[in-house]
Parts: sequence; C-alpha cells; structure tokens
Amino acid sequence: MTLLGQRFAILGIAFFLVLSLFAPRVQAGAYEAELPAELATAKDMCALLPCTEVFPGAKYFSERKGQPPYVEAYDNDTAEKKLLGYVMLSTDITDTPAYSGKPVVTLIGMDLQGRFVGVQVLKHSEPILLLGIPESALVNFNNQYLGKSVKDTIEVGPSRPEENVIGLDAISGATVTVIAQNQVMMMSGAAVARQTGIIEPTVRDPARFLANGQRYDWAQLVQMGLVQQLLVKPEQVGLPRGPEPFIELWFGDLNHPDLGRSLLGERGYDNLRSRLQPQESAFFVIRTAGVESFKGSGFVRGGIYDRVQVKQGADSFTFRDLDYYNLYGLEAAGSPSYNESAIFVIRSAAFSAAYPWKLAFLGNRVDRATGHRSFAVFESKYWMPASLLDGGRPKVVEPDAPWVRVWKSQALPISLFALLLVAVTVVYAYREKLTRLSTHKNKWPVNGFKYAFWAISIFWIGFGYMAQPSITQVLTWFHALLFQWTWSLFLSDPFIFLFWIFIIVTVFLFGRGLFCGWMCPFGSLQEAIYKIAKAVGLKRFQTQLPQKWHDRLKWIKYAVFFFLLAVSMFSMGLAEKLSEVEPFKTTFLVGVLNRSWPYGLFVAAILGVSIFIERPYCKYICPLGASLAMPSTFRWFGLKRKQDCNSCKACAVGCGAQAIDADGRIDHRECLHCLDCMILYTDTKGCPPLAKERKRREKDGLEITPIGANGYFIPIHPVTSHTEQISAKAANGPDPRMPTEPVAPFHTAGESRLKWILLEVRDHVWPWSTEGWHSQRALQVAGFSLAVAATVAWVMAAMGSLSSGAIIGWWFGWSVYEVLIRLSGRRYVKDGVWWRGNYRAASVMDMMSYVGFKNLLIGAALFLALKTLGLLNL
Ligand code: SF4
Ligand code: SF4
Repeated sequence: MTLLGQRFAILGIAFFLVLSLFAPRVQAGAYEAELPAELATAKDMCALLPCTEVFPGAKYFSERKGQPPYVEAYDNDTAEKKLLGYVMLSTDITDTPAYSGKPVVTLIGMDLQGRFVGVQVLKHSEPILLLGIPESALVNFNNQYLGKSVKDTIEVGPSRPEENVIGLDAISGATVTVIAQNQVMMMSGAAVARQTGIIEPTVRDPARFLANGQRYDWAQLVQMGLVQQLLVKPEQVGLPRGPEPFIELWFGDLNHPDLGRSLLGERGYDNLRSRLQPQESAFFVIRTAGVESFKGSGFVRGGIYDRVQVKQGADSFTFRDLDYYNLYGLEAAGSPSYNESAIFVIRSAAFSAAYPWKLAFLGNRVDRATGHRSFAVFESKYWMPASLLDGGRPKVVEPDAPWVRVWKSQALPISLFALLLVAVTVVYAYREKLTRLSTHKNKWPVNGFKYAFWAISIFWIGFGYMAQPSITQVLTWFHALLFQWTWSLFLSDPFIFLFWIFIIVTVFLFGRGLFCGWMCPFGSLQEAIYKIAKAVGLKRFQTQLPQKWHDRLKWIKYAVFFFLLAVSMFSMGLAEKLSEVEPFKTTFLVGVLNRSWPYGLFVAAILGVSIFIERPYCKYICPLGASLAMPSTFRWFGLKRKQDCNSCKACAVGCGAQAIDADGRIDHRECLHCLDCMILYTDTKGCPPLAKERKRREKDGLEITPIGANGYFIPIHPVTSHTEQISAKAANGPDPRMPTEPVAPFHTAGESRLKWILLEVRDHVWPWSTEGWHSQRALQVAGFSLAVAATVAWVMAAMGSLSSGAIIGWWFGWSVYEVLIRLSGRRYVKDGVWWRGNYRAASVMDMMSYVGFKNLLIGAALFLALKTLGLLNL
C-alpha cells in the first residue's frame, strides 16, 4: 500500500506538471488583446473597431464627436440617412479599473431612447476570466444590458422593485470585475445620453452668496480652498520622472462677488458679469507649471476644448470657443505668474456654484512598454465654503464607492464571517483547555469545534461565498505593494480581505496551521474526505508516504511558490495561468463540470488521493501553503513539547502532517494544528511517559496529581525534581522544545537595553561575521560586489534610469547571497517572539525564510519610502 501511496503522489505531481505546461497554451479571446495603437486618437473610430456588431442595422458611422467622444450610428450613408443611435468606447469616457487594476475596454451601442443595443468587450486584463471563469460569462453578463435603458438604475445583485433598482446576475467569483463593468456601462451611457439630450441635466438650486465686500489675497484664497490646484506629474502620464510637473493648474470660482472682485478686480469682475446671463457661471484656470497646454493644441475656432471639463454630480460640462474669455490678469496680491490662462463659462442652469464640482484634465497615458496611449482623467475637487453661502452648503448625497456598496449590500454575511474568524481565533487560543478535556480516545472537545469550522469553511465560505484564498492574491498583493497599492481594489472583495487579515495575524501568532488546518476550504475538504473514508471502513487502505520520501517531496510546494513568484516578476498573466496548479478555482469558483476535462481530472485526482493519504495537496504541492509556511518559522506561540518527546514516537506516529521529526521536534512550517499531539501531551493514558508514571503511582498508592504546564505530573512533594520523571535516554537527548539546537549568539547576554537594540539592528542588517570573513574571503568579496551593485541599482532607480525588474533582480541576488553568507557565519535565527532571545541553529529553510521575509519587508519599506518621496519611477 505504501507503494500505492507513492504512486498516487507521484502521479498527482506529474499531473500538475502536465497541467502547468498545458495551461499557458489556453488563450482567451479578449485577454490582453492587441488594440490599434491609434485607437485613442483616431477620428474615424469605427474604421478600427467592429461598431456594426454593437449596433445591428447601422450601416454608417460618423467620426468621433462630443466630449467625451462618441460616434453617431446611421441607417445608411446617403444624404437622407437617419440617425439610429450612438456608439461609444468606454475608455474614451472613463478609466475605471477592474480587478486587474486596468480598465475593461468595452464598445457600447445605444439607441435614441438610451437603450443599450450592443456590448462588446474588446480587451480586458482580468486573470480570472483567462482560465478560471470562461470569457463567455462576461459576454452573458453584458447581454443582460440589452434592452435596458441608461435612464434605469441598474445594479449588480438582486432587483429591488420598490426602489426601482434593476438587478443583474453577477459572475460568481468575479464580483469585482462585474461591479466595475456596471459602473463603466452606466457612466459611459450616461455621459453620451446627457450630451445628446436623452437624459435631462439635473436641476440644482442656484447659489445664493453671502458677500461682505472682503478682499482676499492669493494665500488666503489657497488657505480657504477658494482656489484649488490640479497637479499632474509626468510619471502619471507614462513619461520619465522629472522635476517639472506635466501640468500644474490653479482654478477657482468667479461667481461669488468677493471672490470675483478679489481675483479680477472691480472692473474685471463687473465686465465679466455684464457679459453673463444671470444663470451662467464662470471660473478661471491658470497654468503655473508644465509645458502641456490645457486648451489643447488641436483646438480650432468653433471646436471644443477637449482637455478640460467641469463635472458636477453625474453632469459634465464642456466648453466651446464661445464659452472662453481671456483672463487679462489676476489682481489678488501674491498671485503666481502663469503661462496660460482662461475664463470658462458654464451656460447650463444645471450647474450651481453652491454644489461641489470638479475640474477634470483629460489626458493620455502612454504605456512605456508598448507605446499605447490610453485615456486618463485627472480631477481636483472644488466646493465653496459654507461661510460664503447664504444658508450654508446644500446637503449632497455622494454615491458610495463601488467597494462601499459591496460591503453595505452584504453587511450581514460579512459580519457573520468576521465573527467566525474571531471565534476560530478565540477557540484556538483556548486550545490547552480543550486538549486537556480530550484524550486520545475522545478527541471531541477539540474535534467538535474543528469539524464544525471545516463544514462552514467548505460549504459556506468555499462553495457559498467562493472566498478561497489563493496564491494569486499573494502575487497580486506583492505586486500592488511594489507598484500601485489601491485599497479600493482589495476592499472590493470583503470576504477575501477579512480572510487575509485573519491569515496574516494568525500566521504570526500561531503559524499557518490555524488557517490551513481549520479554515482553508480546500484543505478542509481534503481532510474531511480522508476522515469520512476512514469512518466508512477504508482505514486499512490509508497510509502515509515513508518519512524519507515525505521529507523530500515536501520541498516541491516551496519550489512551486518560488517559481510562481519569479514568473510573476516578468509576467503576471503567465503567473496567473500557472497558478492553475491550485485546484481552488475549479473546485469552488467555476465548478468541476464547467471546466474542460484536464482541470476536472486534476481536482478529482487530488481528492481521490485524499481518500488514501491525508492532505496530499497541502503537504506536497500547495504554493499558498508554502508562502504561509515560511513566515510560520517565526510564529510567536508554538506547540508544547516535553523532554521525553525526543525518544517517544507516539505523537510522531499520529501526526497526519508528518511534521514531527525523529527527535520529537515539530516543524512549524508543516504542522497543521490538528492538536492530536497536544491532546497526548496531557493524556495520562495516551502519552507513554505519563502512563508509565501514572501506573507507578497507582501501584505505589501515590496521589495522581494534575499535569503541569511542562507536560509532567505536578510533583507530589515540591522538592521532587521533574527530572526524576524524565527517562535517562530522554534526558541525554536533544531538546524537542526547540525546533533545532539552541545557540547563544555573542550579543544576547548581559547587555544594556540600548546596546541590545543596537546589536540587534546590526545583526539584521549586517550578515557578515568575523569568522566568516576570514574563512570565506572569496565569497565575501563576491558578495560585497553584489551588495555594491545592489546599491548602485537602487541609486540608478532613484534617478529613474533602471527598470523595476532590474532592481528586483538585484534585490533577489542580494538575498541569495545573504542566505549563503549567514549560513556560513551567522547560522542562527530567533524562535518565538522577537523581543526574547531564544536563538537556535538555522536550517537552510529557516535561513531562507528569515532572509526572504526580512528583505521583503526592507525592500517594500524602501520602495514605499522612495515612491513617497517621488524618487522612484515605476
Ligand atoms: S496547504 Fe494549501 S490547500 Fe492546504 S490548507 Fe493550506 S492553503 Fe489550503
Ligand atoms: S500532531 Fe502534527 S500536525 Fe497535529 S498539531 Fe501535532 S505536530 Fe501539528
């Protein structure tokens, strides 16, 4: 049977390798599709795009018009042609990002009544739609818009007729993508519908100003928020970082008499008012830095200013040449000098200076890798202070951000989930109470809780809410941390967000075992299958790999993790595809029956092997488990061991994770916190040394005292030493309470606190030792040059002349070197809480975990610091 087990495991691993090779060949239609380079700027958009497919029946399309742009769809191209509706490109209107952080480029057709008549996704970067969920799911989602009107309130989720909300069916597992898509559809449709009169502008009460004749200088105007800045840095539009902004604009209201007179002077203000109708509003814009024109080089008389726009609520206001007046000067004392200026007039009565509004600068962002341009909007908000408005500021209900809507709409299940996570943590924190209530024959005080949490994690979290954490999230977060951290991206999936908070906290407190052993849906599913098989009589077929093989094969999962991490540095898309080594998507998100057979077979193979071997996937393949195992090296609270564990094999035999070695030491990277060994620890009938002592006492008629914290009977007489209870063999063996031999580095004893801290810091940042320096000179020199190279890479990066890939490469190289040099000189790590001095000898994996984790934190901190200071251009 052992042979059978081995074959199963090897088959499973081979299958994964085959699948990994197979995965990259599967290419979805619109994933990172190539779009014409001139798409963002071409006048004849429909010459480049399949407009007829989103507007059935249309034969002729106009050039781009309006701001934001759209094209008109006609029934023919003759002089008598009839207007049928409009076609718009979503990225002309909004750059709302989806889950990938990039927009889903969508072509939309809309008839004259504002009904959607066609939707086509031209390009997306959503990895979940690459292999996890078929792209047809997004097509089906978009088809739900057909026939619905842009005037309707359309939301993802159930319909609410009493609130006139029309619901759309979400795509399970891609909620964030479809919420973003809904926002794109509605914003795009509304922007064109408002321009073309399909949607009437909102009616807002005109502003009633409180004027007292006060004049403000520029500093006061800035301080009170009466003039606002709109700053765009070159790196925000894909240009090399430089000292000069791409454009710096200042703008402000000219309607309030005190502001208008402060800025334009008496004559200037009166002159302006005399040219405006009572309902018309005006504001000024000046450019104080940058060479980019906000009026736009393409502006011609009679045309539209296509680089500035005012937005108020859902309405946007654009400007033609007749809406432009010259600004002859700013009279406010201390006004900055400027090199471009304008006064723009908003003629629509829908605008009210009493309500908040935004100045939007519409630009193009150039992708430096591909040279592609994409639409980008930079906005700055303006709202007149309440003290200048009669009756104060009007009440404005801002629509919630999409992620806020997700949290609100699922408030109850999210709260229950948060409670569940707290409950698991509390139950585990009281593990010793539970294990003392249990025995090797009755584990229900522990298992009752554990099995309940498994059931909840499999059915409610996994199949119900599809909140299975995944290595792709680790990779995404890692990249986001380095390149573009957006909280809203992570908050838009509340279950995963909370799950990760739980994982991060509990990994540092207890190690990965609490998540992996108690809460991971797929891990629970595997072990539940194993337990059920055992209960139904298959126990005699169940086995473990020989420890020798287990100790070799367990490294595979780390190799898979590092491989994915390395690939993700070069191509997130490829790393996402290779992450199919995780069977999670197939099991929970998409369903075995909805995927092609290799994926279904992969899941079936893992779950099939799980009947015979406990958690094969967790032990040997799972990259997520590996990524959590490495920081588990430094968990604060471990499991208890007693000296006799070094010679007694009872716990090791019963450890399903095979995490206990021949010396009775627990490998906390592999331990899944089943707590079986903790039950034995205090079990006077199951733990051999305790049973022996119990029998001795019973025979001698001595008192049976409780088991102390050290795992031995509390001595009958206080003077009796526990060592009397330890067998001679155990007493002379290794200490199983530490994962490796304890060591005492030079700086641990007898130092003052300040000196201890300094030495501690030095220990973390200076990997060399005197002995190592003498004995490993060649390596030292090589490493030193590598360190210099890494430093140079950082400096060059700060100067904007090295790509992030090179920096990461250097950083990785340095980490490899640091592992090697520490192993040759300072071969120790800390065990348990960092402020204590429990040092122990480091294994290679201990050192890799320590250096990898430390350098990741230092690297991320440096990245963030350099980025915050504007010194890093990624
Ligand atoms: S090793 Fe992977 S599948 Fe197993 S419990 Fe941990 S995360 Fe889940
Ligand atoms: S028996 Fe093994 S897996 Fe279970 S808690 Fe002990 S060391 Fe961890």
